[in-house]
Amino acid sequence: MNDDFYCDSVLSGRVAIRVVAESANVLAFEHTRPTWQTHIVVIPKQHICRLIDVRDDALFGELFQVMAGIIEERGLADTGYKIITNGGSYQTTPHLHFHLVSGVPLDPANPAQAGELIV
Ligand SMILES: [Zn+2]
Repeated sequence: MNDDFYCDSVLSGRVAIRVVAESANVLAFEHTRPTWQTHIVVIPKQHICRLIDVRDDALFGELFQVMAGIIEERGLADTGYKIITNGGSYQTTPHLHFHLVSGVPLDPANPAQAGELIV
């Protein structure tokens, strides 16, 4: 896996982000290198490496409440969206994160944008 971009650069404030939504324990922001027309990253504010490391059901609820709020606010419920999280050998950044994507892939020729593998 690569460095923890989310702790090292996003949560530390080293990289400027455009915040989309925020709750006590969850941060959602525009992907810094989007591969979809709408490409939002949703992360827990505390360091959690993998999905299977979450020990707090309330955090799952909060993550999905934030994502549902964005879907509703942007009117994506009817137009379509995907929520993607990578695990195991698919996960390249060691901090739990969800990709909330909608619209078209920005580079459909790139197999990583077929919707299954998004870094
Ligand atoms: Zn982290």
